[in-house]
Amino acid sequence: MLSVPPLSLYIHIPWCVQKCPYCDFNSHTLKGEIPQQEYIQHVLNDLQQDAQLIGNRTVKTIFIGGGTPSLLSAESMQVLMDGVRNIITLDPQAEVTMEANPGTVEAERFYAYQQAGINRISIGVQSFGSDKLITLGRIHGPEEAKKAARLAAELGLRSFNLDLMHGLPAQTFSEGLSDLRQAIELSPPHISWYQLTIEPNTQFGSRPPVLPDDDALWEIYTEGHQMLTAAGYQQYETSAYAKPGFQCQHNINYWRFGDYLGVGCGAHGKISFADGRILRTVKVKHPRGYMEGRYLDQSHQVSDEDRPFEYFMNRFRLLEAMERSDFTRFTGLSEARIRSQLDQAIKQGYITETATQWQITQHGKLFLNSLLELFLN
Ligand code: SF4
Repeated sequence: MLSVPPLSLYIHIPWCVQKCPYCDFNSHTLKGEIPQQEYIQHVLNDLQQDAQLIGNRTVKTIFIGGGTPSLLSAESMQVLMDGVRNIITLDPQAEVTMEANPGTVEAERFYAYQQAGINRISIGVQSFGSDKLITLGRIHGPEEAKKAARLAAELGLRSFNLDLMHGLPAQTFSEGLSDLRQAIELSPPHISWYQLTIEPNTQFGSRPPVLPDDDALWEIYTEGHQMLTAAGYQQYETSAYAKPGFQCQHNINYWRFGDYLGVGCGAHGKISFADGRILRTVKVKHPRGYMEGRYLDQSHQVSDEDRPFEYFMNRFRLLEAMERSDFTRFTGLSEARIRSQLDQAIKQGYITETATQWQITQHGKLFLNSLLELFLN
C-alpha cells in the first residue's frame, strides 16, 4: 500500500546574464530586462493549477533554482514568496533555499531575500581561481564569491551552501585542493563539491577542453574528501557534504523518492496519491511558450514496472542505509516483486541486507550503473 511521502516545491527562474559553456540546465541568456512581474504571475498561476494535485498537504521545503534566481529584485522575491504562501500551506519550519550567483548579489538584496522568507542560500562559487572562472564563463571573480559567502554567514541564515567544482580544464592537484581549502575557510554549513562533466549540447560538448586525467581526478577526489572529513563535513551523497544537521532537506526529499511540485519553465514534478498513482509532470521549457499561459508540457503516470528503477536510482544516491519498508511505502509494490534482483545485487556485493535495511556497499557505489540495471524494466 502506497503512503504519500513528504512534499517539496521547486520553482525555476530560467534566465542568466550569460550561458556558461558547461551548462546544460534550462537557462536562457538574458536579453534586456527580466519580465519579473509577468513571469512571477505565471509561476503563481502555474502553482495554483498544480495545487489541485495536493489537496491540503503541507509543503516541507522550497528550492528556487535556475538559471539565476538572484537576478530577481527583492520586491519580486517578496511578491513570489507571498503568493506561494497564499496558495499552499508551508510548514513553519520549512527550509527555503534560493540559488545565488556571486556576480548578482549585494548586501541589501541578501537581507531583503531573507525578509521575504528565504532561510538558506546556495552560492555558485565553482572555483576561487580567476583564470578558472574565466574558462568557466562565470561573471564573478574570487573576491565576489568570498564576499557573498561572508554576507550569507553574517545574516545568520539557517544554512548556506557553496557550490564548488573540481576536475576543471588544466586544473592541477594543488589548484583543486586550494579551491576546497578556501571554501572550508569560509565555514559554510554545506558544501556541494562536484566534478565537472562535459555534457552534449553545451559549448564544452562541441569543443571539449582538456581535463585532468583519471589518475589526477582520483587524487584530487581522495585528498579533497579527506580534507572535508577532517574539517567536520560528512558526505551524505556523491557530491554533497554537510556539517552534522545541515544536510539539504530539499535534495534529501528527492533522493528518498519524496514528492515535489515543479513550477516555472521546464520544471519537473512528482506527486503520489493515496489511491496508488504516481504522477510525473514537466512544464513548458522556453520562457516565451511558458508565458503564453499553457504551463504543462507533459505528464504521465509511473507504471508499476518502472517504479523499482526510479526508486533505487534516487535512493542509492544517498549513502545512508535505507529502510526496506520504505520501498513498499513509497512505490506501493511488495518487496517480493524485486526479490530476485535484490538477491543478484547482494550476490554481486553491491548491497548488503539486514532484517530491516539495505545498504549500498563501496563496490555498489563504484558500479552504480550495473546495480541500477538490475532494476531496469
Ligand atoms: S549561471 Fe548556472 S544556470 Fe546559469 S548558465 Fe551558468 S551554470 Fe547555467
